[in-house]
Amino acid sequence: MPYTEDRSAWYEGQGLWQHVPASDWNDWVWQLKNRLTSVAQLEEHMTLTPDEKAGCLFASHKLALAITPYFFNLIDRNDPQCPIRQQVIPRGGEAILSDEETLDSLGEDEHSPVPGLVHRYPDRVLFLVTDRCAAYCRYCTRSRLVSNAQDYNFHAELEQGLRYIENHPEVRDVLISGGDPLLLSDKKLDHLFGRLRAIKHVEFIRIGSRIPVFLPQRITPELCEIFKKHGPIWMSIHTNHPKEATAELRAACERLSFAGVPLGNQTVLLKGINDDVDVMKALMHRLLRMRVRPYYIYQMDLITGGAHFKVDVRKGIEIIRALRGHTTGYAVPQYVIDAPGGGGKVPINPDYVEKITDTEVVFRNYEGQQFSYPLTHTPRPAGNEGELSVVGAPESSAPLAQPMFKD
Ligand code: SF4
Repeated sequence: MPYTEDRSAWYEGQGLWQHVPASDWNDWVWQLKNRLTSVAQLEEHMTLTPDEKAGCLFASHKLALAITPYFFNLIDRNDPQCPIRQQVIPRGGEAILSDEETLDSLGEDEHSPVPGLVHRYPDRVLFLVTDRCAAYCRYCTRSRLVSNAQDYNFHAELEQGLRYIENHPEVRDVLISGGDPLLLSDKKLDHLFGRLRAIKHVEFIRIGSRIPVFLPQRITPELCEIFKKHGPIWMSIHTNHPKEATAELRAACERLSFAGVPLGNQTVLLKGINDDVDVMKALMHRLLRMRVRPYYIYQMDLITGGAHFKVDVRKGIEIIRALRGHTTGYAVPQYVIDAPGGGGKVPINPDYVEKITDTEVVFRNYEGQQFSYPLTHTPRPAGNEGELSVVGAPESSAPLAQPMFKD
């Protein structure tokens, strides 16, 4: 059945936690303290399937189980296939290993000159500043280190990382991630941003965070002041399904946006969650309405125990084909595979170009119609200049050969 949604509705409210004072509910520390982290806590509110129960018991060896009350409210407790539920409640599939999968599928550890800092591309680094998240995504690429369930013993070495960046003038772009960097205290973030801003060769600072989605209460006015003080700091949030686009997330994005934080979004293509044209289109539209530019759709990384989430790449291409030209260009993200082993992000596009010769490019548009764009340049004979003959004519009568802005 095609996915449909009430486009005017934005989920909001305290759901199962009506009895809690609003001051607690809106306090991000309260949300963290009251996370659901065990089978017993989940079963106070829902009936787990045997598969989920098996997954929860295994989770302590792979990636911790934790869900904020805010995000738990979005789960359909009567539907084991609920797209929110599948993202955060473990399933037995996590214990199934495949030959193609590895713990460090992007080869980050090999490119780590100091603990927590990945320097793979010449001009930019990934700075992992914590191994903790507000909730844990069951398909997490960094599940080897995030939450320390696998005894990786990650320790964020902020000072070492900062010194490495200071000593490498080629680094102009720093992506702060983890774990979730917005779990650091305001004081630590203020210090971290301040230190990075003081490095002359660092031009661009960005954050990857799922906090606005799991814990929008963390986007406090005080935090926004820190972004204002050190901005511009760009942020990629991470949403996978339109159900995540609540009134609270929308308000958090608004606060960030008003603090001068340009927002993008990353989505992971996940089986049974968003491998569907209508779901993706609805998500992209919601993002735009929340001031967030869809940036990437990722083919899922080949992480150990993640096969049950894996989607055929042809489905991803079909989704992009269904978006491009069929909706606002801003709503079309780039679909990429992060090359296994650390080859970087590679765009995966539908094939629009049919051939390129010395004289033309032949391609099809979003409706499948064929067009040719000439690569030749054939000057017209003198006296037959056509449109050029209007040169020098009053401005109002000059035809616009190429509009400045297009749809
Ligand atoms: S929020 Fe990011 S780092 Fe944390 S579990 Fe989810 S995908 Fe992994």
